[in-house]
Formats: sequence, structure tokens, C-alpha cells
Amino acid sequence: MRSGRVTGATESQTNTAGPLSIPQAAYIHVPFCHSRCPYCSFTVIANRMDLVDRYVEAVCRELTALGSPHAVKTIFIGGGTPTLLPREPMVRLFEEIRRWIPLVENGEWSIEANPQDINKDLCLLLRDQGINRISLGGQSFDATKLKTLGRDHTGDQLASAIDIARQWFDEVSVDLIFGVPGEDLQIWKADLSQATSRGVSHISTYGLTYEKGARYWSQLQKGELVAVPEETELEMYLTAIAFLKENEFTHYEVSNFAKPGSECQHNQVYWQGDPWLGIGPGAAAYVGGTRSVNHRSTLKYLQRMEAGESPVAESQVLDWSTRTRERFIFGMRRLRGVEWSSFASAGEPRSVEEISLQIPKHIQLGFLEWHDGYIRLTAAGLPISDSLWLDYW
Ligand code: SF4
Repeated sequence: MRSGRVTGATESQTNTAGPLSIPQAAYIHVPFCHSRCPYCSFTVIANRMDLVDRYVEAVCRELTALGSPHAVKTIFIGGGTPTLLPREPMVRLFEEIRRWIPLVENGEWSIEANPQDINKDLCLLLRDQGINRISLGGQSFDATKLKTLGRDHTGDQLASAIDIARQWFDEVSVDLIFGVPGEDLQIWKADLSQATSRGVSHISTYGLTYEKGARYWSQLQKGELVAVPEETELEMYLTAIAFLKENEFTHYEVSNFAKPGSECQHNQVYWQGDPWLGIGPGAAAYVGGTRSVNHRSTLKYLQRMEAGESPVAESQVLDWSTRTRERFIFGMRRLRGVEWSSFASAGEPRSVEEISLQIPKHIQLGFLEWHDGYIRLTAAGLPISDSLWLDYW
């Protein structure tokens, strides 16, 4: 499960810059999973549901430490597998969230869900609690691919979860992974086709990565896994762009596609460089120009909260130059790009100038272009965008 999540070292880079204003977004991390998928390096604790009550208590303490209720425009509950929580602690968690970080009217409240957990009762409960967007960690409908990924649900269960979720929620998103060992273009096209035909409003697509700390990483090093060739992975990405466009999805961020009006509002915060609160083990936060990350170990996080200590493991004050550069780089993940005049007027002057000196080179290579006052990626720049950003540091 990935969209909306910002936890720990693997994704703390998603933090950006921006105004030193009060956060209007909150991320809450629920670390529990049945088992750890072999490709996963997120902050997860597998098969330890005995810790749920302590976890909820600890999160309540972290929320209480806010001191007074703090209204936000978006809440994202990610994981891990938030829908694994038993009903009673789940409801308590939601009640405390509503108490300390109430959602403004028409705000967006997302939750990540495992397809296996979705049923009518859960959907009703989530809706009654104020949640209005479900993000399904589906990854694929294909039996072999799901098995390779170590997922605990079937393709039919994912299809059924989408159908049920759509009865109760207007906004249903699904994560799909491509470039899984053994996968070919036909399997990937079938995944895209199934997701669109079931009527989801949002799709996040990710190429499989081999992260240090995940079982897949060591298997790849030992030669026990054969990664999909880079050209195939590129073809899969381009296929997703073309196919989803044909099916009336807007490609609005490097990895994200939405029906008009269904873009994830929470994620915009990260790409715009706005501040956000982060609660729970491994959760990153960006408040008052300081980026901080809670302890990634759930047990350590619990111990610290129970001892009345801070859950923060690392924090870093971002200087104006760093905030400016991050704001540019993460802003460029959005297909509409970065609106130059407001970026330049708010940014640290020397960094803005250095960034502006790099742009012509990438325009000449055909990777960037100007459009209506925005600098943005071209179709040629999209697949290689990660390799461009080093020049902007
Ligand atoms: S379900 Fe998601 S968070 Fe949990 S182990 Fe698998 S990939 Fe990681």
C-alpha cells in the first residue's frame, strides 16, 4: 500500500518546502500487517495484533500532545494495513482523530484498505466515522503475479472489494504494481483493464522496486530473482499512460491517474511543499520548516510514548535553500509542473537562479517545456524524470 503514505527513511524524501504555516493535513500510520510482503520495506509489524491496544493508546497520546483541536483539510490513514484493526480499537482511534484533528467541511479523509477486509459492514462503519475515500492495496488481479508478490488476497477478492467499496464510496482508488518478475505486457494490460472496467476513480501505478531491507532485495542480490528488463518496465509505464488516458483518466502526477475531480487532495500537500502532521510509528511530519520522523520500530515507538517521551527519532530544520529546491523537485512530479512566477518569488534567490540555469539544458534535450507560465515534464521526460533532479540539488 503506498499512496498517501509518508513514513520513515524510504519516503521521508517526499517532504518538501513551502510556507511555514500551520499544517492542514495529517497522516496517521497504522503499522499492522498479517505478514510482511517480500518487496515491502515500509514501517510494518507483522502478526503482532496483541499490540493493537497499546498502539491506539500511544497514538491517542500523540494526538493529545497537540494540546488543542487542530482542524485539517485532509487526513490519510495509511499503513501497514489500517483495516486490520479490530472494530473497537478502530472506532476509538477514529473518535480521537475527529476530536484532535477534526476535518473541515468537504475535507478528504482517506484510508488504505486490504481487499480481503472490505465488506458492507466495514464500509458502513468507515463511512459513518467520516471517511470518504478508500485506497485499496490491490497490486494486481493476476494469480501468478499476486503469488510472486506474496499477497494474501486473490484477483477475485480485489474485484469484489472494488465493487463493494464503490457501493458506499464515490472515491475508490487502487494501487497497481508493474514490473514484477515473470510479468509480461499482457498481464499488465489485463490489470489496467480490470481496474478501469470496475469503475475506480483513481489509480496509482508503481514499478516494483527492490529496497534494501526487503526480502526481494537480498533475493535479487543472490540471483534468486530475475528483474524485469528496464525496456519492458518502461513499456509498461508508457502503456499505463496511454491506456488510462484512453479511459478518461487524467495523468496528474508521475505515478497517479484520476478521473476528473478525483485527484487525491492529501498527496498534493507533499508535492506543493505544504506542512503536515505525522502521527504513529515511522510517520514523517513537516511542521514549521522542520522535517521529523518518528521511530520506525513500532515497539520503540510504543515504549517511548508509554514513558512520556517524544516519539521523534530524527528531525532536521530545512533551510530556505533546501526548501526551495525540494519545492521545485517535488512540484515537478505533478504533470502540470511548477508555476514559475510564484515559485521564483517565494524561493531563496540564489537557489532559484541556479535552478533556472539548469532548465534550458533539459528543455534542449526535450525533457522539460514551458507551458502557460509553468515549467513541466514532457512525455519524453516523464519516464526518466528521477534522473533529472540531481541537477537541481
Ligand atoms: S500489505 Fe502493504 S504494508 Fe503490509 S507488508 Fe504488504 S506491502 Fe507492506
